[in-house]
Amino acid sequence: MQKRIFALLIVAAVHLLIVIGAAAQDQGARGGRGRGAAAADPVKTATQIKPDLWYIADGGANSVVEVTPEGLILGDTKNPGDEIETAFVAQIKSISPLPVKYVLNTHPHGDHISHNQYFIDHGATVIGLKHLKELWETGNLNSTPGKPAVLFDKDYDLKFGGAEVEAHYFGSAHTDADTIVFFKTKKFVMLSDLVNYANPSPGISGTNAVQVLGILDKVLKLDFDTAIAGRGPLLTKADVQAYQKTWDTFMTRVKDAVKAGATKETLASQVKQDDLISPGLKSPWAFNANFFSQLFDALKSNPNGEPRQAE
Ligand SMILES: [Zn+2]
Repeated sequence: MQKRIFALLIVAAVHLLIVIGAAAQDQGARGGRGRGAAAADPVKTATQIKPDLWYIADGGANSVVEVTPEGLILGDTKNPGDEIETAFVAQIKSISPLPVKYVLNTHPHGDHISHNQYFIDHGATVIGLKHLKELWETGNLNSTPGKPAVLFDKDYDLKFGGAEVEAHYFGSAHTDADTIVFFKTKKFVMLSDLVNYANPSPGISGTNAVQVLGILDKVLKLDFDTAIAGRGPLLTKADVQAYQKTWDTFMTRVKDAVKAGATKETLASQVKQDDLISPGLKSPWAFNANFFSQLFDALKSNPNGEPRQAE
């Protein structure tokens, strides 16, 4: 009898561990880079979004695959490393045996571009913003191969295999080369790190913050129903609208504070942030003093939040 109770206790303990493990994993996936998940950050199993449209999370940022009868269109190519490449390619092959024919990157950071070269070597063409290539060439990832061969100034329209995918520079938020990748046929949009799940605060500088509302306006004019940021879960259009509303509240507070006499030094302490939360996250925004100091200057130098002008 005692043995039986002991056995039951063991079974209960194992179940508890499984439940705790699953909860931790969920936390890691939803929060993007939970502290525990950051060490390994392995490539996740591909998740179907819609017919012929999938995303593959982690190993860096989210990647998106659209399947056409003529081959695949891929958005973002993850962090460097052989382990990530092997797992990433295996996940793509589990979706379709067809080759990747086109690659687009949402911005030139390592977790979005590092395996471009693999796909070029296997017959793909990389399409990118001209300024994305320039930032890549002048930044610390210059030696990473796989820079785009087909370049555009602001907008690109790819028609391939019956699918249509648009790429747009709507303004600078996370980087000066943020590219919104719109899978038009699928009504699905990649938001880059315009919405940021790595931290509660959006990964946006004070200088660029003045452009965010304008960018979101343009994004929301696209005919999509589902979206994804650089990290984190799928978002609805309502999530993106809510995010824009949060930015609107924030910028209104900032402008009101400046009108009420806030200075570059005092602005940070005069803007309430602890009730502003990005979709899917629990912690409120917490932009630092340096952000507010940049934002104060940007409100003077670029009061209308004009995007960088393509040359
Ligand atoms: Zn980034």
